[in-house]
Amino acid sequence: MAQEITRTGTIHLVGAGPGDPDLLTLRAARLIKMARIIVHDGLVDPAILAMARPDARLVSVAKKRAHHTLPQEDICALLVREARAGHDVVRLKGGDPLVFGRGGEEAEAAHAAGVPVQIVPGISAANGAAAAAQIALTHRDASSIVSFVAGQCKGLSDQDWAGLAGKGRTLVIYMGVKTAPQIADKLMEDGLAPDMPVAVIENAARPQMRVLRGLLAGLPDLVTREDVQSPALIVIGEVTARGDVQVARTAHEAVT
Ligand code: SAH
Repeated sequence: MAQEITRTGTIHLVGAGPGDPDLLTLRAARLIKMARIIVHDGLVDPAILAMARPDARLVSVAKKRAHHTLPQEDICALLVREARAGHDVVRLKGGDPLVFGRGGEEAEAAHAAGVPVQIVPGISAANGAAAAAQIALTHRDASSIVSFVAGQCKGLSDQDWAGLAGKGRTLVIYMGVKTAPQIADKLMEDGLAPDMPVAVIENAARPQMRVLRGLLAGLPDLVTREDVQSPALIVIGEVTARGDVQVARTAHEAVT
């Protein structure tokens, strides 16, 4: 008796950018519109999910700091299971899949299971926020190094951040709202000037974006006083003190 052969599907790890559907790549938009199954995390904007076919299966594996709904191994297992059942899976992530997006772990799981993977880059929060707030991440007069760090990670206090921030450098901190006081202390202990300019960009590239500016020593206070909510980025460096106030005003900026 002839055996039915099921083709293995492909897992597409797709970056959804910082929120605005206009900031999707054409390839991401095409895959979202065609997909029969989309596995997405909590940062993906509803306007982007609304682009899916009406009969698409949308599976949320929302990862919020306080309540992990699905452990990473289970997400990997789900992706592999669906692909092995013959489905092309769109795994949709906020920003870029390979910047604090666990895209590496999911690609490894797929490789180990012999499932093909395609990765579609997205505009990472740092790039989206920089453009929306008109803060240059590098600037010939102010910064020639830019680093992305996770403010919420294992062993934060043991990490050596010396050299990442300071004169001529820009430090972009993802997931740093809750740990802002420890981050500010750590950087000042490492020798950073308390009056180093900082900016906090909440909901970058979304209609409700807020850009808050201040100085490193006042960062914890700024975050508390303005009740900054995730998702937000903290940018530290002289580049945050440049820029066009006019643009900033239209972006609901609070200068502190
Ligand atoms: N892969 C994503 C990052 C995921 S980590 C990317 O490349 O952007 C989640 C963190 O990203 C949040 O805690 C926040 O620091 C940042 N972030 C994501 N979207 C954001 C947005 N629209 N505005 C500001 N920060 C954002």
